[in-house]
Amino acid sequence: MIKRSALITGAASGIGKACAQRMAKEGYGVAVADVNMAATEALVQELTEEGLSAIAVRMDVSSEEEVEAGFDKMVETYGSCDLVMSNAGVQIVHPFDEYPFEDWKKMMAIHADGAFLVARAAFRRMKASGKGGRIVFTGSVQSFVGSKLKEPYNFAKHGVAGLAKAVAREGADYGIYTYTICPSFIKTPLVEKQIPEQARDLGITEEEVVKNIMLRDTVDGQFTTVEDVANTLVFLSKDQGALTGQSLRLTHGWAMM
Ligand code: NAD
Repeated sequence: MIKRSALITGAASGIGKACAQRMAKEGYGVAVADVNMAATEALVQELTEEGLSAIAVRMDVSSEEEVEAGFDKMVETYGSCDLVMSNAGVQIVHPFDEYPFEDWKKMMAIHADGAFLVARAAFRRMKASGKGGRIVFTGSVQSFVGSKLKEPYNFAKHGVAGLAKAVAREGADYGIYTYTICPSFIKTPLVEKQIPEQARDLGITEEEVVKNIMLRDTVDGQFTTVEDVANTLVFLSKDQGALTGQSLRLTHGWAMM
């Protein structure tokens, strides 16, 4: 018997996948939303074989039509929209003076338009249900600091934390709480890809990228993990009204408040 439902974007890989697996184990019906349908369907099959409930949703978060259709499918299947994680993301690094406008627009489409479209779709359904819900954004330590080669990513991740604050104000009357989970580096495909790219663009070794860039400002030289994010999502899925609008920094001490 499914008591609650969750939709997670970018759920076919990395952070989103770990969160989808965890929420399914917590008893949620999970809408696994991504553009990579082979990986999405493989995850849904894995969860179903474990006796858990999940559906595959094709959703390019930069497409208004696909976002709305995906949420409709979720509500048709589970009858509710209780928890939404706006998590899909990509990283494109270039030196700032060489950053192609096309790549800037691609980053904005996924990170900025995507966060808006997913949060608005969630808000509409949570408000209409009369039961409220939780909207969780995946921010980053890059929501608070600036990093070389990542101007669009910094711009968008700062923006997502602001979006969560504004939606928290409008959502309060309807029992809609918002949060931004802000991890430092986690070894997912998104980060594995960046290590050689940053080494190339900065003229340093891959080991130096990890030690001197990715982990330099942590207090203990440790990566954050997908489990750290999934644990935080479970915590936020409970009744955390006192934390609405807040950003939670999972950063091993980087960018402490
Ligand atoms: P990942 O590459 O492992 O997974 C990203 C997923 O998003 C993939 O399954 C991909 O297919 C999907 N995706 C890409 N474009 C999409 C689109 N237009 N619509 C729907 N899905 C799309 O990356 P990850 O590390 O798990 O990153 C997830 C989120 O966490 C991103 O927002 C990223 O910026 C953020 N983040 C990552 C780290 C890190 O160190 N890995 C740290 C902080 C924040």
